[in-house]
Amino acid sequence: MAQEYPTQRPTDLEHGGGEESIPTELNSIPWIDIHNHAQTLSWNDREKFTLSGCESMVMMGAGYYWTPYKPVEPEDVRYLWDDALNRLPQIRQSHLLDAKVGIGIHTGARVKDYDQLLDVIPEYAALDEVAAIGEIGLTEAQHVSGWSLEEQKDVTRRQLEIAADHDLPAILHTPADLEDVEFPDRIRGNIPGYELDLSLQQEPVLTSDYPKREAVEIDVELKDDAGLPGDQMVLSHMDKKIAPYVLENTDCYLSFTVSYPWLLGVSPTDVAEIVAEYGPDRILVETDSAGVLRSDIFAFKRTILEMYRMGVDVEDIRQVVYENPRELLD
Ligand SMILES: [Zn+2]
Repeated sequence: MAQEYPTQRPTDLEHGGGEESIPTELNSIPWIDIHNHAQTLSWNDREKFTLSGCESMVMMGAGYYWTPYKPVEPEDVRYLWDDALNRLPQIRQSHLLDAKVGIGIHTGARVKDYDQLLDVIPEYAALDEVAAIGEIGLTEAQHVSGWSLEEQKDVTRRQLEIAADHDLPAILHTPADLEDVEFPDRIRGNIPGYELDLSLQQEPVLTSDYPKREAVEIDVELKDDAGLPGDQMVLSHMDKKIAPYVLENTDCYLSFTVSYPWLLGVSPTDVAEIVAEYGPDRILVETDSAGVLRSDIFAFKRTILEMYRMGVDVEDIRQVVYENPRELLD
C-alpha cells in the first residue's frame, strides 16, 4: 500500500519515486590519479584531492612549462625531477596521500643533449618513490624550440625501453584535439585559462588531418619496438572520438582527462558513456591538474557520481577509478 503523508494536500510524495536506496560505497570509493602535476599546485588545491577521496597519485616531474629556457638543457629537466622528489615526503605528510613521482622527458620543447638524461633515468627508475616513466609521448607542435619527429620518436622509444626494463608503466600524453573547441575571439591574451603564449608555438611535426590518432599509432608502434607490454602503457587525454579506436585496435590503457573540459572537451558524461558501452577494462580517469591551466580537481569525484547516474555498476566504477590504476601501478 502506498505510504500516507500528513501533508495538507497531496504532494509529489504520494506518487512515489525518489526512494531508491543509494549504495553507501558510492561515497567511499577511493580513487587514484595516475597523471597529474600536483607538485605545481597550491597547498589548498592539493587538499582537494584528499577531501574528495583520492588515495594515491602519480605526480609527473616532467613538463616544459617550468623551465624558463628553450631549448631545454638536460640539467633543467633534472631540476624538475629532483624538485618533485624533494617535495614528495612533505606532500605525502601534509595531505595524507600515497603520492609517487613520474620521471620522464617531455617533448613539448626540444631538449638538447637528451642522451645525458637517458643515461641517468634508469637510476631514478630504480627508486621506490618513482612509480612511472612519464609524461612522455609525441607532441604535435613544440613551444619556442621545435623538435623533429625522428628525434621525438627516438627519445620516446628509448624511455619506453627503460619502462620495460624496470617493469614500470609509461604514461604518454596525446595531442589535444581542438577541432570542436570554441574560443572567444580575443584581441588580448591567448586561450582563456591557459598560461601559455600560443604565438610561440612552432610548426606542427604531426601533419595528418587527425594528429591525435597519428600520435597514438606511432606511440603504439614505439611501444612494440621497445618490448613494453600494452598493459603497462597509458594513453592520456583520451576523448569520445578516439576511445573506440584505442579500445578496438590496441591493448593499452586509455585515460580520460576530466579536469579541464573547456580545453579537451571531455565531460564526466563522456567517460560514463564509454564505460557503459565498452565495460570498465583498460579505462582510467586522471586530472592532469597543473599550475599552468585552469583545472577542477573535484571533477574526478564528479565523474564517479556521473557514472552511477548513467547506470554503471558500483563495481565497474570502482574498477575504473581504483582497481585499474592499482593494477597498473603495482
Ligand atoms: Zn600532464
